[in-house]
Amino acid sequence: MSSIEGEQFSFFHGVERNFEKASRFTNISKGLLEEIKSCNSVLKVKFPVKLGEDIQVIEAFRVQHSHHHSPCKGGVRFSEDVNQDEVMALAALMTYKCAVVDVPFGGAKGGVKINPKNYSVSDLERITRRYTAELYKKNFIGPGIDVPAPDYGTSAREMSWILDTYRSLNPQDINASACVTGKPVTQGGINGRAEATGLGVFYGIREACSYEEDMAKIGLKPGVKGKEVVVQGLGNVGYHAANFLKYAGAKLVGLIEYEGGIYDPEGLDLDKVIEIRNATGSILNVDAPIKEENSTKALEWECDILIPAAKESVIHKENAGRIRAKIIGEAANGPLTPDADDILFEKNIMVIPDTYLNAGGVTVSYFEWLQNLSHIRFGRLEKRFTESRYHEIVSIAEDLSGKSVNEAARKLLRGPAEEDFVYSGLEETMVLAYKEVRDTFHAIEEVRDLRTAAYILAINRIGSSYTEFGIFP
Ligand code: GLU
Repeated sequence: MSSIEGEQFSFFHGVERNFEKASRFTNISKGLLEEIKSCNSVLKVKFPVKLGEDIQVIEAFRVQHSHHHSPCKGGVRFSEDVNQDEVMALAALMTYKCAVVDVPFGGAKGGVKINPKNYSVSDLERITRRYTAELYKKNFIGPGIDVPAPDYGTSAREMSWILDTYRSLNPQDINASACVTGKPVTQGGINGRAEATGLGVFYGIREACSYEEDMAKIGLKPGVKGKEVVVQGLGNVGYHAANFLKYAGAKLVGLIEYEGGIYDPEGLDLDKVIEIRNATGSILNVDAPIKEENSTKALEWECDILIPAAKESVIHKENAGRIRAKIIGEAANGPLTPDADDILFEKNIMVIPDTYLNAGGVTVSYFEWLQNLSHIRFGRLEKRFTESRYHEIVSIAEDLSGKSVNEAARKLLRGPAEEDFVYSGLEETMVLAYKEVRDTFHAIEEVRDLRTAAYILAINRIGSSYTEFGIFP
């Protein structure tokens, strides 16, 4: 449970509310809907870690929301705000997210209740290794059981500690490297995973903005180019989403962090902002015409696209009425409460839901996991073959035409590398899933928003996996 404006709020109940809103548009039986909705396993542990001269007891969780596919999948977050309700909600969102993008995993999530900023690197290593050992003891980690990944407060570094700990406990497991994703590239990680969630956010927003009639409904022209964007949270997801949008021609007018936000109608230089913040500790030290110390208030800045990319429930019934964006792209998990959804609907604000928009991370985690299990790098078998075929075709064309291709064109004649597969697989996933969500939205008249459409798509997909494979006894 967390508190919004003094009121107790259950994030998990919020996810259940969204599920129920959608489930009445499916033909799935009441019992099966109940099974899909419930959290299958909840692990809560308290373990001691020796930090300095004393020991500290750390509280941590791992929730496996759904076992309809194996393994379960989802990140591990390190945050002081971690609690069981939050981890359950995030695990449930993983289930629906994987289903929306057709990634065959059940949903899971982990949380360690610490503020990583208060610990040294070696303390963090000890905590992460001990957490992994706890997961292992309870059968909550393994390439075919449950596969963690980075999330808020964790990165490739923590994943490398998880892998090493798991491997030391399972020296015989030749698939051990698939026990965790988001690893450093040198340790079985995949090129493109670090920026995957942000890149997925970009592809998703680009798709949503590409339909002329949808944009006309909210008073916008199609395309990302020229759109004014505000991003809240410049961590891994927010930074890369902002960066890809900038390359596509969007204007970053507002950037928000814990300590406040800065706004410039002429556009902000993302890398310069990061540089100044890293050097001085605050975004407010950047020279900008408008500054706001209250980062929640900054969410109310006028823009075309607002991207909350930090934590859940930042837009709720108290502030939703003051939001002035035309589109909200949910890069974070659960940044809008169900009450906020209702208010934003009345204001004709388009919401691109988390269950679709931030699925890029887990999609590329899926590619990483597949690569680990197949023990071969994508592209290794075909890269040279494809490359020499391209060269042969071009030289035949050159002979026939008597002309030769220039150097710039010749650069295109290379075969696909790992990163090319990752980018193309992610783009295909996000483009196809957007079409499916949008088609679901249009197929049922009473469905008012894309979130409900995404849930319907997910619930139907999960429901059919139960009957198709006879998992349900
Ligand atoms: N933590 C990310 C998410 O919330 C990625 C999960 C994964 O790759 O398993 O989607």
